[in-house]
Amino acid sequence: MRVRFAPSPTGQLHVGNARTALFNWLWAHGKDGTFLLRVEDTDAERSTRESEASILEDLRWLGLDWDEGPDVGGPHGPYRQSERLHLYASYANELLAGEHAYYCFCSPDKLDADRQADLAAGHPPKYHGTCRPLSRGDAQARIDSGERPVIRFRVPETEDIRFQDLVRGEVVFSTEVIGDFVIVRSDGRPQYNFAVVVDDALMEVTHVIRGEDHISNTPRQILLYQALGFAPSEFAHLSLVLGPDHTPLSKRHGATSVAEFRARGYLPEALVNYLALIGWSPRTGGGSGENDPELLPVDEMARRFAIEDVGHAPGIFDFEKLAWMNRHYMKAAAPSRLAAESVRFFTARGYVPRRSDEAMEFVSLILPMAVGSVDRLEEIPDRLKFLFAFDAAAALATPEVAEVMDAPGARDVVEALADELRDCGRLDRDAFRAAAGRVKQRTGQKGRALFHPIRVALTGEAGGPELDLAVPAID
Ligand code: GLU
Repeated sequence: MRVRFAPSPTGQLHVGNARTALFNWLWAHGKDGTFLLRVEDTDAERSTRESEASILEDLRWLGLDWDEGPDVGGPHGPYRQSERLHLYASYANELLAGEHAYYCFCSPDKLDADRQADLAAGHPPKYHGTCRPLSRGDAQARIDSGERPVIRFRVPETEDIRFQDLVRGEVVFSTEVIGDFVIVRSDGRPQYNFAVVVDDALMEVTHVIRGEDHISNTPRQILLYQALGFAPSEFAHLSLVLGPDHTPLSKRHGATSVAEFRARGYLPEALVNYLALIGWSPRTGGGSGENDPELLPVDEMARRFAIEDVGHAPGIFDFEKLAWMNRHYMKAAAPSRLAAESVRFFTARGYVPRRSDEAMEFVSLILPMAVGSVDRLEEIPDRLKFLFAFDAAAALATPEVAEVMDAPGARDVVEALADELRDCGRLDRDAFRAAAGRVKQRTGQKGRALFHPIRVALTGEAGGPELDLAVPAID
């Protein structure tokens, strides 16, 4: 079994597309198949190498590695469409020779006028077939005189195109609504439908799993497979990912690209686990961690994934549920791994000068104080601000701290604490407990009346992590 993810490098990787990549990856990994990556960069105006690099980086960050692709090569390369133009040209010639395709010289103005006439007459616009009857000789003469035609595919007039979609069941399109479509532009570059069929066939892709937005392209692609003498692949069209208001997930809803989720401090395993469950639920229960059937490591998901189990109702992106999963994976992650993912948030705040071994060690030491009370890694430095930015005057100006300090006996506690700590050097957990015990004895305060002033004195904040954990990290 061979599947592919075929991004167009025209921007950042959208989470909806990341989910498409993930379903392909899961399907390949669970079935011992091959997952290949193909870059669809024939739109020269909109495609960039920066976008390609960022998409590859995001996929790697998610852990969705590929067996064949532009960077790793493989037996069916090249894997960038811009490097396969010779192949499209040769198959276009084959279609022309077999009368499956013809040159079209219609000007944009003429096409637009036809379109307007169709709309005015109340039917969907469709190419009028003006250049269909042109002989090859006449077409060649016009090309020789300098005209630059497109190449159109000759769509059979009345035929039903059927396919068994693995997600949606039987799908039927009548060719009556499909006009002769362009397969090669006047500058010689292939159109999407044509390039994708040549590539999927030559790369021996057995299952095309992609977004539902491509479903109306599929009958055109099946016609191309037939005309080129290739056996069509199987198809699975995934429903779109919608925002909570049931419109396609967009900037209005918050983060939409993998890069943004990463920048906000979601862990890749949380995003992967969450994305897989948009539209898919594993058939038999039994997850891991907290025994929640939805918390599934990626290998377990791959083992249980079946494309037939993916639903066709649109998936609603639930930011709360993602946050819940992120909390789970943050707590489950080893401190060193968490430090590797979160040290950038400390350097961004200037709390840690740079990513050094020492910084990593310190960050992994202090992280456990915060992970239990945040949704995202990005929030951690703020929770631990007291370790890096202690400002007594600013602290006293906040109402919560002032309230603690105005309580009867609070100042005595702080003074006794200062006295106890004056000569005691660096505090570990036991030394701190002993010092707090002596303050208790000296002042007669206990419980909140003891620990609130101590917290305020040491951290400048009225709330925060357990003091036992926090104190050893205070320099
Ligand atoms: N390049 C297309 C896209 O990004 C791929 C469509 C397909 O998978 O066939 O939408």
